[in-house]
Amino acid sequence: MSVYQALTIAGSDSGGGAGIQADLKTFQELGVYGMSVITAITAQNTTGVQGVYPVEIEGIVQQLDSIGTDLQPRAVKTGMLFSADIIRHVAEKVKQYQWQHLVIDPVMVAKGGSVLLQQEALQALITDLIPLAEIITPNLPEAELLTGLAITNLQQREQAARQLIEMGATYVVIKGGHDTSTSTVIDLLYDGQRFDYLESERIDTPHTHGTGCTFSAALTAELAKGQSIHEAVHTAKQFIQAAIEDGLGIGSGHGPTNHFA
Ligand code: PLP
Repeated sequence: MSVYQALTIAGSDSGGGAGIQADLKTFQELGVYGMSVITAITAQNTTGVQGVYPVEIEGIVQQLDSIGTDLQPRAVKTGMLFSADIIRHVAEKVKQYQWQHLVIDPVMVAKGGSVLLQQEALQALITDLIPLAEIITPNLPEAELLTGLAITNLQQREQAARQLIEMGATYVVIKGGHDTSTSTVIDLLYDGQRFDYLESERIDTPHTHGTGCTFSAALTAELAKGQSIHEAVHTAKQFIQAAIEDGLGIGSGHGPTNHFA
């Protein structure tokens, strides 16, 4: 039996809806063996982030080495990386172990406003990590911060996608969930040549905690299974749509999506 293996390099969400926990649950649901490198611990629940505790660099590097010297993730995703120093060390290890199918979810700020990436780390993300990416998965606010563009229409979305490809990613998918001016959610997938629009019904719910993590984890799982980028993005879109539709509604704030496939 062949075992599909994927690795997530991300932050822990004690509430279980986002970060490492969302990633591992999603990998499992999609039939992929999950491994994790924890970059930071957050004290968090559905009402917000109560604390952020980055892991020491030495501890992060050691986790990466433990995996790299023994296991063979076929796809790797990054989520919350927090600092420029962490980003540089992660980039170095991705190169050293020649990890392929790197999915970068450029996590920056939680929905409640807590900083998950320090401002000075943005440049390190652009110069050190994005050039290694097979695909980068920003939402609209993240795409604006990465490109410096104000994105208010589809043309500007295409311009942002072009800029992100120029930074060195092979593919980019800009997620449209934050644009509430339309009744559908429009995601844009770009491979440097062709723009593909993926449209889905907008679900009106407060329970969207961890949607970005879950989407990029599903995409990573599908890449680990050998799917093409286009297939993986479509499957991840279906997975996140169902996960939002069937949101668990637990906790008193923004509840998690439903990771059960
Ligand atoms: N906490 C961690 C550790 C994350 O990696 C993420 C990912 O974006 C979040 C929180 C964000 O959660 P939310 O979907 O509520 O913005």
